[in-house]
Amino acid sequence: MDHEVDPCEDFYGFGCGGWLRDHPVPETSNSYGIYSWLRQHVNNKLKELLKAPSPPGELEAVTKAKVLYRSCINETQIEQLDSKPMLKTLQQPEFRWPVVGEALGGDWEWLPGRWDLQKTLAAMRVQHSKNVLIRLSVGPDDKNSTHHIIKLDQEQLILPSPEDYAANTTSAKAYRAALLSLMVDTAVMLGATEKAARVQMEEVLAFEIKLAKKLTPFEDRTSETMYNKYTLSRLQRLIPQFDWLAYIQAVWRPTGEPVISSSEPVIVRAPQYFKDLFKLINATNPRTVANYVQWRSVLSRATALSRRFLYRYLDYSRVTTGTTSLMSQTDKCVGYIKNLLLLPTGRLFIDTHFQEDKKHMADAVLAKVGYPEFYLNDTYVNEDLRQLSFSETDYYGNIMQVFGHIALEDVRRLRKRVQRTEWYTSPTTVNAFYSSSTNQIRFPAGELQKPFFWGKEYPRSLSYGAIGVIVGHELTHGFDNNGRKYDKNGNLDHWWSNSSIKAFNDKSQCVVNQYNNYHSEEADHNVLGKRTLAENIADNGGIREAFRAYRRWIQQNRGGKEEPLLPGLGLTNNQLFFLSYTHVRCYAYRPETARELIQTGAHSPPKYRVIGSMSNFEEFRKAFNCPAASTMNRGAESCRVW
Ligand SMILES: [Zn+2]
Repeated sequence: MDHEVDPCEDFYGFGCGGWLRDHPVPETSNSYGIYSWLRQHVNNKLKELLKAPSPPGELEAVTKAKVLYRSCINETQIEQLDSKPMLKTLQQPEFRWPVVGEALGGDWEWLPGRWDLQKTLAAMRVQHSKNVLIRLSVGPDDKNSTHHIIKLDQEQLILPSPEDYAANTTSAKAYRAALLSLMVDTAVMLGATEKAARVQMEEVLAFEIKLAKKLTPFEDRTSETMYNKYTLSRLQRLIPQFDWLAYIQAVWRPTGEPVISSSEPVIVRAPQYFKDLFKLINATNPRTVANYVQWRSVLSRATALSRRFLYRYLDYSRVTTGTTSLMSQTDKCVGYIKNLLLLPTGRLFIDTHFQEDKKHMADAVLAKVGYPEFYLNDTYVNEDLRQLSFSETDYYGNIMQVFGHIALEDVRRLRKRVQRTEWYTSPTTVNAFYSSSTNQIRFPAGELQKPFFWGKEYPRSLSYGAIGVIVGHELTHGFDNNGRKYDKNGNLDHWWSNSSIKAFNDKSQCVVNQYNNYHSEEADHNVLGKRTLAENIADNGGIREAFRAYRRWIQQNRGGKEEPLLPGLGLTNNQLFFLSYTHVRCYAYRPETARELIQTGAHSPPKYRVIGSMSNFEEFRKAFNCPAASTMNRGAESCRVW
């Protein structure tokens, strides 16, 4: 807290000022806040568990996770191998990198006549779980939410926002220069000559700049415009320059599943992008396209190599994110393994650190809480990793196995029905979610800790203000500007009357205007009200719902009698409720990252997530006696959607 700040002028400064002063952004990060703090807390617990020797009778999958961890912290071995494991990959015919092959010759040489874009993209997707140029995924069909369907989407570029490829600002130019030099140096570190690397990587960057212009902008990507259901044969007629059927078949071949035919439906989320993409490819030297595609694939695995690759990447991050130091190898490894092996790490975590009573307490809100049941099923957890066999001396090889495994799991989902009552979020996740296709709200174990979930020993105002608002936030997503388009079965459907839509849009416009007027000093940029609308609606709704729920709890469980006050604070319970919410939002960003988040993020900056929603809420101004003319009391100007 910061008592120098007037809560009616800047409640975020009042609630977070002290915490932010005491917790500067670490050198190894681009931002720091309550979420990072709690994630670190979860990672530290996991690290202890992964480090521990395997007792007899340990779950096989857990033993495998520990071997993977040991291979990752085996820095002596990783240094000794240096670039060798990557160079082995670059010998495979699909994965040859022209600029490197030219210098190394032999099995590395890239032969234009033998290279096939379609085969390369398919091999990357299924062997490395890497999407380049085409993002292929399998997910619920938006209009038939019990069925999985193939989705094809546009490329995700390396620099934070598409504007960074076009703008002539100092920072955009610096980003492009940093990217170019990262490409050149990485190629040289793998064996390319300096001169060839410079010439060819300049061509790659020029190609990527053109590609950035072909992307469909975020504002034009709505659930409706992205829902283009074609058969593969129709897609083939529309965009004949690429063999779509052969590509998809190649991705599914290793699963041995039923063959995919030209009548297979797919959802093409960016048709114009694909039309433009293949025109661009046809107008570009194949060597440049191959250089680009391989570069993207190399970059995604370079951090599994020796320290010189890590330091080289850090130089690039210094420019684009402001990060100045490498994370310790153990921290890095825990983070990786947590994200790659969800089942065994999640199981380890809940076995030791999750109390069942939390699950029951929060079950009342009819949500997915803690962890999916199958995390406790030994056979299921072991079966997941059955095909994988790790070595303590081959970290890179281990990671490649995991990528291949993840890719197969993705594509195997296609013919399975969507299990609407199941959920797949790992318990180690510190976050909460709403899923429109299953109409679920999800609160993994990682989120159910202090300062979100306080348990019975603390005033309920703290929990209602934190996890309560998060619950309300996720629920409200079901009725935000996108969630409202999905019916109760999770199908994209026009189920609202036109007059309701009109009223909703008018109320939403008020929120858009309100947030457009907020200026982030960290980012030196105004908040984008339209871009962040869904999250702002959820924040505003969440806080109202949780406050109402808290007051109802006081009525029903305490006969209207207020909870005892926390000693020494001098705050009422209602004031504590609002303070508790603000605390979970405390977050600092480096300027580079603050700007990136405004341009590409779904949320408003934390300061305005607090000020925006609270200044619209009459209960807040009552709790703090905020005068009519103060920032935190928008009075008649207040916006309210729900
Ligand atoms: Zn949200």
